[in-house]
Formats: sequence, C-alpha cells, structure tokens
Amino acid sequence: MQTHDCDVLVIGSGPGGATTACLLAEAGRDVILLEEGAHLGLDSAPPYSIAETTQKYRNGGLTVALGRTMVTCIEGRCVGGGSEINAALCHWPMDQTLEGWSERFRIRDLSNRSLEPFRAEVERDLTVSSLRGPLDGASTILKAGAEALGWRSEEVQRFWQYPDSGDGPGQRQSMTETLVPRALAAGCRLLPDTRVIRLVLGGGEAREARAIHTPPGEPPEAIRVRFRHLFVCGGPIQTPLILRRSGLQDPIGQNLRMHPMIRLVACFDDPINDPTVGVPVQQVVAFKPEMTLGCSQAALPHLVMWLGGQGEALRERLANWQTMALFYVLVEGTTSGSVQNLPLLNEPLMRYPLNDTDRGRLSLALQRLIRLLFTAGAREIFHPYAGHPPLRRKLDANTLGDRIPHGKTAVSTIHLFGTCPMGEDASRCVVDSWGRMRALGNTWINDASILPDTTGVNPQATLLAVARRNVRHYLETV
Ligand SMILES: Cc1cc2nc3c(=O)[nH]c(=O)nc-3n(C[C@H](O)[C@H](O)[C@H](O)COP(=O)(O)OP(=O)(O)OC[C@H]3O[C@@H](n4cnc5c(N)ncnc54)[C@H](O)[C@@H]3O)c2cc1C
Repeated sequence: MQTHDCDVLVIGSGPGGATTACLLAEAGRDVILLEEGAHLGLDSAPPYSIAETTQKYRNGGLTVALGRTMVTCIEGRCVGGGSEINAALCHWPMDQTLEGWSERFRIRDLSNRSLEPFRAEVERDLTVSSLRGPLDGASTILKAGAEALGWRSEEVQRFWQYPDSGDGPGQRQSMTETLVPRALAAGCRLLPDTRVIRLVLGGGEAREARAIHTPPGEPPEAIRVRFRHLFVCGGPIQTPLILRRSGLQDPIGQNLRMHPMIRLVACFDDPINDPTVGVPVQQVVAFKPEMTLGCSQAALPHLVMWLGGQGEALRERLANWQTMALFYVLVEGTTSGSVQNLPLLNEPLMRYPLNDTDRGRLSLALQRLIRLLFTAGAREIFHPYAGHPPLRRKLDANTLGDRIPHGKTAVSTIHLFGTCPMGEDASRCVVDSWGRMRALGNTWINDASILPDTTGVNPQATLLAVARRNVRHYLETV
C-alpha cells in the first residue's frame, strides 16, 4: 500500500478545508490536502449545466434525508467543494445568531466583533463585491414586488471578481480560484480523486487515514496517509460519516440542522430569463433570519428539474422559458436530524423530521412569495405542491394551507450544519470552542459541521471566518 507522510492532513477541500490547508501551508506546515472529488476548476463545464452536476455534485445532487417529507441534500464533491457550485452569495451572520449559539452551546469568544479581523481577511482574499451592471430579470421582479409591499429587500454581495478594466461578467471566487492555488504555492500537496474510508485510531488519537485513490481511467488503489495532526473538513454530512466509520459514536452526527428550501417557477408576460446575466443577487431580508425569499439561476436544465411535477404540459410550457423565472423560500429549520453510517455501505443514513413549525414557516414563506410575485406582475405560478393546478391570482395562495403537506412538495437544502457542534457543553459538543475534538487529542474539525445551528443567512461567509479563527488559534496554541 502506498504511504504518504505529513505533519498535518486536511481531509476535504471545501471552504473549511481550503482555508485550513492554505493558512497552515503559508505558516510553513507540511500539509497534505486530500479530496474525494476531481480537481477541475470553474471552466470544466458550463455553469449550471447537467455536465457540471455530473462532475461536481455528490450523487448528482441526490442525497436524501428521510422523514415523512424527504429532504434532498445537495453537496459539492470536487476540489473546492460547495464553493465550486454555489451562488457565491456572501452574507455575514447576524449578531443575534452568534449570541444565541454562544449561549446555548457555551462557545468562547465568538461574536461579530471577535470575527471582525477574519471577516476583513475573507473580504480581501475572496474579493467580496457588489454587482456591476444591471440587475437580472428575476432580481428586478423580486425587488419591485418587495418595494410595493413595503418589505425590505437588498442586493447580497458575492465572492466575485470583476476585471480591473472595463466591463465583463467577472468570475466567482471559489476555492480553486483563491485558497487552493495559494495553498499549493506554499507547498501543500493536493491528492484529488482520493476518498478517505476511515481513520485508524489508537491511544486517544487518530494515527492514519485509509483512503482509495481513483485517478481518472485507472483502477482504484488503496493508500494510507500518516500525520501528526488531522483536520477533518468533509462537510456536515461526510465528516460525521468518516468519524463514525472509524468507530466513534454519538454525539457525532446528531444535531443535523438545515435551512429547508422550496422552489417555484413563475411566468410573466415579457422575457425576463437571460441565463447569460448570471446569478440573481436580490433577497427579501425583511423576515430574516427566520425566512428568506430569493431567486435562483433559471437555466433550462434547472427549470426542467423544478417543473418535473408538470408532466405532459412541461414541453409546451418550456417553449416560453424566457418568460419564466425560478424563486425560492428558505427557512431556518427548528428541529434536528441525524447522520449515521450503514454497515458495509458508503452512503449515510440521514434523518430529518421536518416538524410542524418548519412546515408552517415554509407555508407562510411561500404565501408571502406568491403574494410578492403576483404584485410584481406574475401571470401564472406553478403550484409548489405536486398535482395541483397552477396559481393564477393572489388569493390562490390561500390554497396552500397553514403547513406544507407531507410528501407533496420537493423540499431540498443546500445549507447544512451542526453534526459536530463546537462549544464547551461536553454532553453535545463534539469539538471545543476552536474545533478540537474531545474524543481525539490530535484531531480538529473545521467545516460547516461545527457551526452548531442554522445561520439564517447564506452560511459560507460565517464558515470562512470561523475556520480562519480556528486555524489561527491552532497556530498560536498548539
Ligand atoms: C448548490 C449550492 C449553492 C449554495 N449557495 C451558497 C451561497 O450562495 N452562499 C453561501 O454562503 N453558501 C452557499 N452554499 C453553501 C456552501 O457552499 C456550504 O455551506 C459550504 O460549501 C460548506 O463548506 P464545507 O467546507 O463545510 O463543506 P463542503 O463544501 O461540502 O466541502 C467538503 C469537501 O470534502 C470532500 N469530502 C467529503 N468526504 C470526503 C472523504 N471521505 N474523503 C475525501 N474528501 C471528502 C467533499 O468532496 C467536498 O469537496 C451553497 C451550497 C450548494 C450545494
């Protein structure tokens, strides 16, 4: 078996792992960054295409959390993780969110004030910027509808770089554009196409990682990586899975938190959908953190995906795809689920029991969104519950009921948290206030699984700042 040795092994190269590998390598540590997915870069497939879904999403985006309403959990699987496929919206956490976490999980020294220096570094390194040029069609509609109803909406900034001179669409600042190349320049060794199966443990520490390396077109090869210190950054589903497959147990994988999300398609009289304009940036923020109303990229494959319940009528509808746009509601889930490993299988057993409060929030958010869209001129809205005729008037929103019905709505999530929460409450916090594991003295976790609860806003900015804070603490204290 091929063996690699390093001072620090980082498993997973998403925002958490890339931050960790970059800062450690730049501090002179001998780092290996190991990633299950391929090293592709942003231009390997057209954005939001089926090819991109195949290349960069885990299971093509179809991991499911079980419950009376199934929740599809969408994760990236490539060098850069979720940052390669996300909308790059940058939203800083609200004071009340960090205060609530600190109190309930007993986290030391976590506030917007203490994160300020890390936030400034993130803004610099990932070029946080406002939109240049006109708003896209869907954002314009959301903004107009919100204004008419007196609800506050705003443009969300993005991790985005525009060319220094002149116009141009600019480029998302994902990890392969920013922190991964910096880590490599500082001497970090990247092993893509390499999946960690389990850790070998002994004496209260992790000793080595056993992995399968599958280079494109070649047979899989078992490898091992030995290290002094380990950072596990596989994301909120895979991190607990790796740890549980290695023999560790609860509370690892408990406390799965999420922002459940429902999308709907609205039709207008005039063409508003121009996929070349890029990702919509407007959100209704009046109801944050409990609920967010927003708009999504609506390239043809995405419309087809979210109109799936329309059956035969679909082809006819899509002839007018330029007049259609995709909108979403996203709420803070109030319950918690779990991630467990299944013997002999690679896939997780995930449960998320969408509760009455979550279902009520989703229904209220949908009713608000539908009201907004009709106010802004929508002619027809595809009913979010499968099998129902489309909505044609504001009043039709009343047919939604107080809670979304179980089993009839496509609920998904792209924001997951909490499966290895940080804090000093040892009964439920898998890691301490700076990410060090309680069960393994030489192991840290530094991805969204340590954020103990929902952020109520797009989470990547919070994660990037917290991950930086934790690496700095490691460098100063270990
Ligand atoms: C479609 C989509 C859109 C989103 N839009 C936004 C947005 O606009 N703004 C925002 O703030 N957030 C957004 N998010 C959320 C954001 O991308 C995530 O919160 C963030 O990526 C989480 O980072 P992470 O490091 O915890 O995990 P991930 O990004 O999931 O990275 C984990 C990495 O670890 C690798 N890995 C896992 N298991 C193993 C293993 N066993 N061996 C080796 N490697 C492994 C994975 O392949 C993956 O690359 C979006 C997410 C998605 C999916």
